Amino acid sequence: MPAMPIRLYNTLSAKIEDLNPIDANRIRMYACGPTVYDYGHIGNFRTFIAVDLLYRFLLQSGYDVRYVMNITDVDDRILSNAARDGVTVQQYTAKYTQAFLEDSATLNVAPPALVRATDHIQEMAEFIAGLVQKGFAYRTDDGSYYFRIAKFPDYGKLSKKDFAGMTDGARVDVDEYEKDSARDFALWKAPKPGEASWDTPIGPGRPGWHIECSVMSMEELGPSFDLHAGGEDLIFPHHENEIAQSESLSGQQFARHWFHARFLLVEGQKMSKSLGNFYTLRDLVLKGHKPSSIRWLLTQVPYRNQLNFTFDGLNAAASSVEKLRNFRFRLTSSQFPAGSNAAIAQLATESAERVTAALSDDLNTAEAQGAIFDMLRKSNTALDAGEVHQEDALSLLAALDRFDAIFAVLKDDDQPKMKAILDWAKAEGRADISPQLEELAGSAQLADDQINQKLADMEAARKARNFKLSDTLRAELTNAGIIVENTKEGVRWRRK
Ligand code: AMP
Ligand code: ZN
Repeated sequence: MPAMPIRLYNTLSAKIEDLNPIDANRIRMYACGPTVYDYGHIGNFRTFIAVDLLYRFLLQSGYDVRYVMNITDVDDRILSNAARDGVTVQQYTAKYTQAFLEDSATLNVAPPALVRATDHIQEMAEFIAGLVQKGFAYRTDDGSYYFRIAKFPDYGKLSKKDFAGMTDGARVDVDEYEKDSARDFALWKAPKPGEASWDTPIGPGRPGWHIECSVMSMEELGPSFDLHAGGEDLIFPHHENEIAQSESLSGQQFARHWFHARFLLVEGQKMSKSLGNFYTLRDLVLKGHKPSSIRWLLTQVPYRNQLNFTFDGLNAAASSVEKLRNFRFRLTSSQFPAGSNAAIAQLATESAERVTAALSDDLNTAEAQGAIFDMLRKSNTALDAGEVHQEDALSLLAALDRFDAIFAVLKDDDQPKMKAILDWAKAEGRADISPQLEELAGSAQLADDQINQKLADMEAARKARNFKLSDTLRAELTNAGIIVENTKEGVRWRRK
């Protein structure tokens, strides 16, 4: 069966287009991963989650997807920080690579195939040698290599910059540089005294950041592949340079489709340490926020629109996730009459279709979420009126679970994840652990069986009219972060 068509904005064509894979039904995609010199912040995860939603939706739509992400474990900051701390590059980056993997799992980011820059240094040197041979790169006296942008007339086609007035031979050798800098950029940098370097056939030194992604993506996916993703800040120079290097060497189109997530703001401003509005994922969990609320918030605004992160928004996200989980709980734990009700069956089908249609339209997450909340409201009304039958409950659940295969917030596993971050924070001696986190992470102390036992004891005490005991048991549960609710369908509990 052919996979479903998906429309996406392509930065290269500046249009919304059908994603049209090179091989039918197969998508080869690459996302620029983290530079592992610090813990990931929520801006990073805004982009990684946007790509995660795309990946999950492609899979759900019937594509066979090969999704590769790199770990940038060589760059200017990493090498100088490692030298400053007197450790090897490997020692310096291992901690942050591990943290990135843990944080991705905390946010239910489906794992891509990961590749590390340090495992591909020799291939980078070969790639550069190939560019020199074709006249696209040159060596300077100190042993560095630069890309000659004057040789690549398409330079600027992704970022839509006009570099007509550029000076041939002007060079820039830092990984990140100004947005209007039309200069020959470094492919390879001669060793800096005191910093790590690698011995290769083109001489000793280290790769520039841009060459890393060209080499790893082409190694893993071939010279031409379907989609390349990252945050919008990477359009220039990083992705423009990747195109120049790759197309110069291969003579073929590099990535056909370019997917860029808009930059996240925090409380209306660019996130920065100096403004005090800079948050890693872990900072937010330490304040007592659940990973599922954070994930939901980061998906609420479609990836090309500006998401403004606020704490009010985060609290609202928590309550949305709560509503969805309660709805699912109601569907799985209530008794329904046999049979089906055509109106509800239709509601389930139409809602699932609306979700799919929204996501196929340039990944319109807001609209998809709106559709599922419409379904929730109408279903709750029908549930209150006793109009939902056994088969309808299953259809509604199927629609909900299909939605959650993309959004991934329904599984009630915040507590163990928060506990892991609490333990990490204690080991690190962090001073900013909130009482909320202690409380939410602490509910692990009671296993499911123990909770059920206490509930049974509570019920028995109530029947025996021993209200003092039943109140004590309820208080024990509440103190352990367990919410007990009396509903029409009986007593039920969940973790806060
Ligand atoms: P880095 O670790 O800095 O190389 O960034 C990893 C990814 O996060 C890249 O795709 C960046 O474009 C993206 N990114 C960084 N800051 C933000 C932000 N504030 N909003 C959205 N994406 C971001
Ligand atoms: Zn990259």
